[in-house]
Amino acid sequence: MNDVGSGLNCAIRRDSSFQFMIDMGAKDRKLVNLGNSKPYVTDTFMLSHYHHDHYNGIGKHKVKFALKNVYLPKIPTLCDPATNEDISSKFVTSLLSFAFYLERKTIIEYILKLLYSSSTKKFKVKFVSKGDTFVYGERGYEVIWPPKQIEENDAIKDVRAAIDAYEKLAQENPLLRQTEIISIEIRNLLIRLGEIDQFQVEREELFEHAIYDIEHRWRRIIPEFYEFSKEENPLDNKQLIKETNDKLRKAANHLSIAFRQEDNILFLGDLESKELEIICKELDANNQTHYDILVAPHHGTHWDEKMKQLKCDYALASIGHSIVHNIKQEELSSISKCFLRTDCYGAINIHKKNILS
Ligand SMILES: [Zn+2]
Ligand SMILES: [Zn+2]
Repeated sequence: MNDVGSGLNCAIRRDSSFQFMIDMGAKDRKLVNLGNSKPYVTDTFMLSHYHHDHYNGIGKHKVKFALKNVYLPKIPTLCDPATNEDISSKFVTSLLSFAFYLERKTIIEYILKLLYSSSTKKFKVKFVSKGDTFVYGERGYEVIWPPKQIEENDAIKDVRAAIDAYEKLAQENPLLRQTEIISIEIRNLLIRLGEIDQFQVEREELFEHAIYDIEHRWRRIIPEFYEFSKEENPLDNKQLIKETNDKLRKAANHLSIAFRQEDNILFLGDLESKELEIICKELDANNQTHYDILVAPHHGTHWDEKMKQLKCDYALASIGHSIVHNIKQEELSSISKCFLRTDCYGAINIHKKNILS
């Protein structure tokens, strides 16, 4: 696990050459090539969820990608019980438009950058959700979140609140509304990427309409948008932007990937407490509560009482100063023999022979 502040970049090595990388949020940090003199080749990559601090390092570091598989989180059907309506596409549009509005860059550009930097010509991009399994380095992996459909009220409420906040902002700000054209395009590109798992495609074909001309084309669609610098859009309502940002972040955390690697690793993404409760109940029912390594949820700052049932040798938290005041120090220490935080220890490398039990 690299020390990237309050973002995430970690990897699981299968031998002395190849690794499975999870997230690459490392905008301003140097990545360390732990435990090896020559750089590992990343042949599998997973993005846990669509948050900047989990992908903003893509394209900024010299990492060798020879991709075979890329796993992205599938956005579940989000059934609003009040209206019986699926609000998932509204949510994705809000999330993408808002991110584009703030950052002037979109998730698709990062993902394409990642794919483009791969030395392999053929790879699969797969959107995963609960129940999906795969093998990496002879170890079995099982995705345990997000489910294919979410009806659970807390998550839906947060998604609804995020969409409402976005709508309020978009009503005040016509430029934000215009970015929705782009969001729909990004969504379609993402869907296309996901279709690739049905066949292996030459990457050149995939990129034909994408990365390099994307910004130019969009500059033509909404030229006004680029007239302001990020900080000085006079139409911005700072308070409403902050509120919308917080709500969208919370909602997206609910949809983060969680997975387990047999009884070795439990990865809990950026999940919020309600999902942690559901997951831990299920792990308990299946006798799957003991792990060598736990990657603590939301940088070690999220917790649910049901997590008390978990036991691990190492609990790891990738955390920086901005959220360190929320760290669940006592709780995570109580379920682990050793609780390691990147803000205290820097980059963390756990070798198989150091597994305690
Ligand atoms: Zn995060
Ligand atoms: Zn997050």
